[in-house]
Amino acid sequence: MNVYDSARMADVMAPLGYKLADEAEDADLVILNTCHIRERAEEKVYSDLGRVRKARSAKEEAGGKMLIAVGGCVGQAEGEEIFRRAPYVDMVFGPQTYHQLPEMVTRAIRGGGGIVELDFPVEPKFDFLPEQSLPQGRSAYLAVQEGCDKFCTFCVVPYTRGTEYSRSVKEVEAEARKLVAQGAVEITLLGQNVNAYHGIGMDGKEGTFANLIRRLAEIDGLERIRYMTSHPRDMDDDLIAVHGKVKKLMPCLHLPVQSGSDAILARMNRKHKVDFYLNIIEKLRAVRPDIVFTSDFIVGFPGETDIDFAATLKLVETVGYAQAYSFTYSPRPGTPAAVDEAQVPEGVKTERLAQLQALIVRQQIQFNSASVGKTVPVLLDREGKFAGQLLGKSPYMQSVHVQGAHAYAGQIVDVTITEAYQNSVAGMIQSHIERKHVG
Ligand code: SAH
Ligand code: SF4
Repeated sequence: MNVYDSARMADVMAPLGYKLADEAEDADLVILNTCHIRERAEEKVYSDLGRVRKARSAKEEAGGKMLIAVGGCVGQAEGEEIFRRAPYVDMVFGPQTYHQLPEMVTRAIRGGGGIVELDFPVEPKFDFLPEQSLPQGRSAYLAVQEGCDKFCTFCVVPYTRGTEYSRSVKEVEAEARKLVAQGAVEITLLGQNVNAYHGIGMDGKEGTFANLIRRLAEIDGLERIRYMTSHPRDMDDDLIAVHGKVKKLMPCLHLPVQSGSDAILARMNRKHKVDFYLNIIEKLRAVRPDIVFTSDFIVGFPGETDIDFAATLKLVETVGYAQAYSFTYSPRPGTPAAVDEAQVPEGVKTERLAQLQALIVRQQIQFNSASVGKTVPVLLDREGKFAGQLLGKSPYMQSVHVQGAHAYAGQIVDVTITEAYQNSVAGMIQSHIERKHVG
């Protein structure tokens, strides 16, 4: 979402003559678009600010100027506190006020900084944003929903992003068509809780996420649809059915579960049990047999015992993930779990994380190894690290690299997987192989 928001900030500033700079050193305005989800993300903002400040000093010595802004969720959560820790910052704003950037910048230039914009405006910012204008490339992001009303007890999102809001079907479709006209063949629909989407449809009534996907799938030239992040509770039967029917919807679903223990899930206020989650997985596999799953886990949540943690390991064994993210619990100021008295010692948390990650890595390698010999369509949308290498994603979100395929840059091509690694696979373009046989 922050990648998407950053692109929209560039759109907002474009009419004022601002363009993206490659390096902070060259910029007239540096915006740190920040994440508040865990403590480490927050601390990183302050160390990055120190680096930007040095760049500004160098620029000022050469007679130039630079404005420094902190946007995103750290801006929202910390507000004025940022000026205390980093007094050289000119502007602080949250994720719901970046459409006001031109005005903030004008004020900062005129009045010399100290600007804070943290409102959750009644009119959603989307009404004020210019049409998305800078092309994102072959694979693009599109925010359809923002904010969250779930209030998991560990999470800052409902406080920093605000309550749930869905854009209208008309707005989303127009943006999707524009992205496709600019060259996108894959669109990832974004939202903090994307499958809670309920935007107003063409008929003026509240729509569903399932119907939004059906509608977007009609767009010619759009080949792949993905979405993230979804909540198990909002995975209704109609959305599950769409996974079986809509071929453009990719067979890889990020469905965070956080824990494999019902007691911990209840303490987290996740609003679902383990069996409920497993049942969704089963139903999805029934309609789309090749679907794979990825997830997020938190270990060492307050009150988590060895037995609870063992249940998480068991759940991972049961599902068999293609990939997963896992974190030690990080107490966030203002959230209920942060003041829970049953905090788990750091040592226990890191020990559990190591165990869980070892299992996840094993599953990831297993999944990648099992794809060797298979032929899958890959969207080759990026240059690889090495000369002559192209990178892309398989339908299952695996990173696939191929050598000497430049003629196919930007295309979706059939690639036969030849080697598997922990975080990627290598392959050969099918037509190359055929040509070799003919030759
Ligand atoms: N909306 C998504 C998650 C958004 S936050 C969902 O409901 O699953 C992304 C991930 O960060 C979460 O899935 C969770 O695993 C992790 N996370 C959020 N708050 C955290 C905290 N306080 N400590 C550790 N990890 C956290
Ligand atoms: Fe945070 Fe996701 Fe829970 Fe919402 S559903 S509170 S975004 S973890």
